[in-house]
Amino acid sequence: MAQSSSGRKKPNVLVTGTPGTGKTTTSSFLAEATQLRHVNVGDLVRDKNLHDGWHEQFDCHVINEDLVCDELEDMMEEGGNIVDYHGCDFFPERWFDRVVVLQTENSVLYDRLSKRGYTGAKLTNNIECEIFQVLLEEAKDSYPEDIVVALRSDTIDDINRNVATLTDWVRNWCPKPE
Ligand code: ADP
Ligand code: MN
Repeated sequence: MAQSSSGRKKPNVLVTGTPGTGKTTTSSFLAEATQLRHVNVGDLVRDKNLHDGWHEQFDCHVINEDLVCDELEDMMEEGGNIVDYHGCDFFPERWFDRVVVLQTENSVLYDRLSKRGYTGAKLTNNIECEIFQVLLEEAKDSYPEDIVVALRSDTIDDINRNVATLTDWVRNWCPKPE
């Protein structure tokens, strides 16, 4: 194929970041504003059993990346999706027109995750993930630099601004010539 994103009439956006940075909140507002489809990968994995069981140590499902990609392929080909997940290196590069990495100040994130019931290693692992910018590095390693954008997500104002910025971007997006 000559163009990596040819054929899509609407863009695909990936919203990634450490758990608690606001991916699901941001994605659902963005879906409402743009009429794109919000795909919450965590929910999909659970609902369609796209996993290889439960990871006792990390207290989460062991996601089966091949099953997830097979499940999403047709939808992604069609375009018009907002994919919400705390990982991004196993999706095909050609799927996305924009990769958004949400970032949250450590103490703010700590409070959010504590409220969600995270404690011990699960809490500290996620805070370290944010401190070391693991998701930003993963996104930069996996996608072209010019489609990756890091956005701050500390406050409600940040969410509103991020949704407005991304809505503008979606509305101005043009399909690539084939
Ligand atoms: P994620 O999907 O990345 O795990 P969520 O969207 O579920 O994060 O947000 C986790 C919690 O933090 C929710 O209670 C949400 O309301 C709150 N939250 C997320 N982002 C922000 C923000 N920028 N400002 C204030 N609260 C936020
Ligand atoms: Mn979420």
